[in-house]
Amino acid sequence: MSAPTTTVPAPLRDALDAGARCLVLSPHLDDGVLSCGALLAELAPRSEITVLTLFTEATDGPHGRAARSFLRQCAHPDAATLFRARRAEDHAVVASLGARAEHLGLTDALFRRRELPAALDRVGALVPELAHRYPTFRFDIARGRVSRGDRRLRAELATRIAARAGEADLLLCPLGVGRHVDHLVTRDLGLAWPGTVVWFSDFPYALDHAPDPAFLRREGLRPWSFDDGLDAKEALVRGYATQVDALFPSGVVPRCAETYWTR
Ligand SMILES: [Zn+2]
Repeated sequence: MSAPTTTVPAPLRDALDAGARCLVLSPHLDDGVLSCGALLAELAPRSEITVLTLFTEATDGPHGRAARSFLRQCAHPDAATLFRARRAEDHAVVASLGARAEHLGLTDALFRRRELPAALDRVGALVPELAHRYPTFRFDIARGRVSRGDRRLRAELATRIAARAGEADLLLCPLGVGRHVDHLVTRDLGLAWPGTVVWFSDFPYALDHAPDPAFLRREGLRPWSFDDGLDAKEALVRGYATQVDALFPSGVVPRCAETYWTR
């Protein structure tokens, strides 16, 4: 893989110069700003930016193991109040950038249920793992294999996003570094977008995971590094107060250039 270049690639140069309308697809209520906050701060004075977050809801318990451990990490006993707080902090952070936050209302993989035959309802209540699409983080969510049961969700999502093609000149999409299933579902929405797409490395997961070489090769993507505006970025990241301690347990938010990928 070639080293990131610091020469601004054409789609982003045009966006920076001309005030292009940008649609940022964020899997969860923080990913768009965590990964692109510095670039968005640079674009915002001239551009109309929408940060569209897809997986913005939880479900009521009983939760599977993955969700329980996430709630523990966030020091939050209750998923509904946690997600309400997360939606509020995303609105506040994105507004502080001068952009617009929109929440699509899909259920986060941690909480996504699968349909069980009625006869198994009681078993599902006793063993919540059986009633969830991705029961564990390590062996399901982070394995990088989107469940066949999510096929309908992907198809509906593709239709909803394609319908918005007229609203934006530039689509920013996660590259899915770290292979979280919700990030991969969001990554692939860029493939069907008729206009210009730029993928971004998922921060902070890109600190200890590599991008998928097959996807980079197939799409002919090259990296580009953006290191302006990093002074202002930490405050944006800390705006996600319910997440920041779990994301950065040492208390330090690493100061890293953002990485973008263009064809
Ligand atoms: Zn995420």
